[in-house]
Formats: sequence, structure tokens, C-alpha cells
Amino acid sequence: MFENLSDKLDRAFKVLKGQGSITEINVAETMKEIRKALLDADVNYKTAKTFTDDVRQKAIGQNVLTSISPGQLLTKLMNDELTELMGGTTADLELKASPTIILIAGLNGAGKTTFTGKLANFLKTQKNKKPLLVADDIYRPAAIDQLEVLGQQVGIPVYSNRESTDPVAIAREGIAHAKQNGNNVVIIDTAGRLAIDEAMMQEIERVKAAVNPHEILFVVDSMTGQDAVNTAKVFNDRLDFTGVVLTKLDGDTRGGAALSIKSVVNKPIKFIGTGEKMEALDVFHPDRMASRILG
Ligand code: GDP
Repeated sequence: MFENLSDKLDRAFKVLKGQGSITEINVAETMKEIRKALLDADVNYKTAKTFTDDVRQKAIGQNVLTSISPGQLLTKLMNDELTELMGGTTADLELKASPTIILIAGLNGAGKTTFTGKLANFLKTQKNKKPLLVADDIYRPAAIDQLEVLGQQVGIPVYSNRESTDPVAIAREGIAHAKQNGNNVVIIDTAGRLAIDEAMMQEIERVKAAVNPHEILFVVDSMTGQDAVNTAKVFNDRLDFTGVVLTKLDGDTRGGAALSIKSVVNKPIKFIGTGEKMEALDVFHPDRMASRILG
């Protein structure tokens, strides 16, 4: 059903054939269709409504050429608009400082630790960097083990201190360790919770204040729909993060969370996770996501 939005729009525009330009009436008929498609793709209601209102404004008065169907014209218009809304172009990491400090935040199960390993691998193989991973979860020894396994897999050292119960101290020690060993990027994997929790927020705020990171990346599971948007808002209010990582886009989610999160927190999406393997990481491309959302 969703695969041929353009065909659907063509059907809705049937009456238009030969009339020359898109009119208020034609557009109104199709906007419902478009809004439904966006909601199906997990875009939140408010974002979908603002978007269709904008597209309606832009569509009215557009000439329909004989070579392009109204459905195609509108699809292109929406594609361009969605791309723009999601940032237009790719957003790079700020990597000038040495060491560059990157703090990873998010709820448990979002894919933080997996992403930490993937990012280290990406920086090593694509950006010629020498990263150090810091295991900063004092609550779950298994989280330290997991990071160490990933570090070994990608050939990147991991700093941990199993004796310590102070995440601020561990983060500082990790950075000192990096400086001593010539690591020019430090990626700090922090503790999450199953749900937003005041103690967790205060802890990560303290780590942020102590290490003054150049990047704070918020990791979120793209399959959690509206929850992803709400979580992003709370983390951004507290941490003022610098970018979003959307994980599990290898599933059948349409990726509407990308648009909703961008429009709610207005921070760039920097990476997408597309699988469990260390190589399954892509830089976020707004135009590709726009096509995915529209189907
Ligand atoms: P954390 O609790 O936030 O550190 O989450 P983990 O990194 O432990 O990931 C939770 C689960 O999600 C693990 O089973 C990962 O293998 C899986 N996972 C993480 N990222 C992705 C992804 O992009 N795609 C898929 N399919 N699974 C992922």
C-alpha cells in the first residue's frame, strides 16, 4: 500500500489531468493521504500536520508539466522538503581537538554500547584516528565486559576501573589514560536505565560538567516510535546534546522517528545503526531518509 505513494497521489489527482496547475481543491484532497502515509511511517502527528501544511502552500500554483505526473511532482516536492527538514546535508562530527571527547548517552537497550564500538571502528578505519573507549557504567559489570569484547573485536583499547563507584572519576581517569597513550579520541559509554530516571540524569550531567565533551551523542532506538521523540526531548533539555544516533534501522521501521526527533529537538542526526555487526553504521543522509519515509 505504502510502496506507491506516487501512484496513490496520481489517483487523487486524476481530476487534475489537463488542467495545468495544482489547485487548492486538488491539494486538499491529497493531503489526508500524505498525512496518513507519514503517520504510518511513525512521524508524529504534529510534525506530519506542519509538514503537510507547508507542502500544501508550496504545491498550490505549481505548473504540471506533461512529462511529470502531479503525483511525481508532489512526491519530489515532499522529498525536497523532508530532506531540508532533516538538515539538508550530512552533519560531521567535531573532531579537531586532541583528544576529542565524545560522551554517549541514552536508555538501556537503545544500542549505546554497540554504537560506541561501531563509532570507534569508524573513526579508526575511516578517519585515521586512535580512539580509546571508556566503560563508565558502574552498575552493570556486564556492560564493561560487553565493551571490552567489542573493543577487542575492532582492535581498540578500553579503559575501565572495576573498583571505582564514581563515574566522574572514571571518565577523568580515562581521559588522562588517553593523553598518556596518544589516543586522540575518547569515547565514554555511560550507564543507562530502562526508563528516564532522575539519578541517571544527574550522574550524566556531572560527567558532562567534569569532562566538557566536544560531542554528546544521544543514542535512540528508531523502533520505539513516539517514545523515541519523548526521550530525545528529555535528554536534550538536560544535556543539550550535539547529535542523535538512530539505531536499528535495519528493521522494517520507516524511519519517521528521524523527522519527528529533528523537528522536536532541532539537533542533527549524525549516524544510523543498521545491524548488530561493528560495520553496520552509516553516516546519516537526509535525502536517503526522506526517500525511505516516503516509500
Ligand atoms: P545499550 O544498553 O544501550 O548499551 O544497548 P546495546 O548496545 O547493548 O544494544 C542492545 C541490543 O540491540 C543488542 O542486542 C544489540 O546487538 C542490538 N543493536 C544495537 N544496535 C543495533 C542496530 O543498529 N540494529 C540491530 N538490529 N540491533 C542493534
